[in-house]
Amino acid sequence: MRDNIVSITRYEKPYESVKKAVFSCGGFDALRSGARVFIKPNIVFWSSESVFPKWGVITTSRVVEDIVILLKEHGVDDITIGEGIVDIFGDDALAAHASESLGYDLLGKRYGVKFINVMERPFERVDLGDGITLSFNRDILESDLVIDLPVMKSHSQTVVSLGIKNLKGTINTASRKRCHNADSGKNLHYHVSRLADKMPPIFTLIDGIFSLERGPSFDGRAKRSNLLIASTDILAADMVGAKILGYNPEEVPYLVEAARKRGRSLELSALKIVGEDIEKVAAVHDYTFDYSIDENGEMPVALARTGIKGLFYRKFDDTMCTYCSALTGLILIAIRQAWNGEPWDNIEVLTGKRMAPAPGMGATILLGQCMYRLNKDHPNINRMIAVKGCPPSPEDVVKALHEAGIEVNPTLFSNIAVLPGAFMERYRDRAEFDESFFRVD
Ligand code: SF4
Repeated sequence: MRDNIVSITRYEKPYESVKKAVFSCGGFDALRSGARVFIKPNIVFWSSESVFPKWGVITTSRVVEDIVILLKEHGVDDITIGEGIVDIFGDDALAAHASESLGYDLLGKRYGVKFINVMERPFERVDLGDGITLSFNRDILESDLVIDLPVMKSHSQTVVSLGIKNLKGTINTASRKRCHNADSGKNLHYHVSRLADKMPPIFTLIDGIFSLERGPSFDGRAKRSNLLIASTDILAADMVGAKILGYNPEEVPYLVEAARKRGRSLELSALKIVGEDIEKVAAVHDYTFDYSIDENGEMPVALARTGIKGLFYRKFDDTMCTYCSALTGLILIAIRQAWNGEPWDNIEVLTGKRMAPAPGMGATILLGQCMYRLNKDHPNINRMIAVKGCPPSPEDVVKALHEAGIEVNPTLFSNIAVLPGAFMERYRDRAEFDESFFRVD
C-alpha cells in the first residue's frame, strides 16, 4: 500500500470512476485474492415507513456495487457489508428493510456478498489506550481489509464526518454513548480520533457524489458534488475530505487529536494528492445551525424568526449522543408548530451530559437520564420537568412539553418514522438528485 497518496476523482460514470479513484491511489496494491473484506457504508438512520433519507446521508449503492465488482475482479469472494443503523423507531426489521431497499440483497444473489446488522453480531472489547475501551463488531476486527465508504458530509458536532468517524457505526450502543463523554479532556473528538487505531488495514473511499451540509442526517442540506476521495491512509483521506468541505484539518478537533497520536503533520503539503485540484473542488459546507440568544430566549435562528418568546432551548453540545439528537430535531419542529403568539413562561430545555440550569427560569425540562442525574437537585431550578429515559421516549417528551405549557401535537411524535420522508420532499423532481444511485438494478 502507498501511504500518504490521496486521489481526488471527478465522478463521471459507473464503475470507471470508482476504478480510477481506487487505482490512482494504489488502493488495492496490497490486496490479495482470497482476502476477507468488510465494507462499511454509512447508513446512519433508516425508516421503513417513509421515503428513506438518502442524499448526502447514505453511501450510494452505485459506489458499493462498483467496489464489489472491483473486489471480485481481484479474486476476492469473502465480502461482508456491515452497518449498525441507529434505531430510534424500535423497528426490529429496520436493517433487513434497508438491505433490501439499497439493493444489498441483490448484491448477495449476484456476487455472494453478505449483509450483516452489526447490532445483531458479537462485539469485542478493545483497549484503545489511556483508559478508553470500546466494544467493536468482531466481523470487522477479524477481516483482512476494511473498505470504509463514508459520505462526504459536514457534521454538527465533529465539524466533518468522514472515514474515521464512519467507523463509529461498528461499535455497540453503550460505546456510542460513551464516546459523547462529559469529560472535556476525553470528549467526543478524543474518542472518535481513536476509532481506526486497532482496525485491520483500511482503504477509505469517501463518496462525495452527494455531499451534505449540516449533517449527519436528513435535516441537513444535500448537494450534488460528484467527487470521490480515496486513500489507504485514513487520516490523509479525512484531511483532504475536510479541506474539500471547506475546513483546514486543524479546524477539525478529531483530526488534530488523531494526528497528534500518530505523530503526523496536518499540513496538506505533507500528502501526495493526485487527480483534481483540491482548491478548485473545495466548497464550504456549513456544519452547524446558528442559534439566537437574547432576553426573549435561546433557540435556532429559524425558530427565533417565527417570533417565539419565553423559550430557552440551549444549543446542543458534543455530549448529546445520537439517540437524544434524533429526538431534538423533532421536538424543535413540534415547538415551532405549537407557537400561537403567546409567550411561554421562560421554559428552559437542557440536553446532553454537561449543561447546567440557569437562574430565573419558569421551568426547566431535563431531557434524558443524563440531565436528570446531573441536575435533579440543582438549586437554580424553580420547577423541574424531568424526562428520565435513555433515550427519552417520545411519549414522555410530549407529556413534559405539555406540562410546560407547550401544546405540541402528539401525532408528530407517534408518527416519528415518517419524518425523514418529509425532508426528502425538497429533492423531488430535481434531476441531479437521481434515485438510481441508491438502487442496484
Ligand atoms: S440520555 Fe441521551 S445523552 Fe444521555 S446517554 Fe442517553 S441517549 Fe445519550
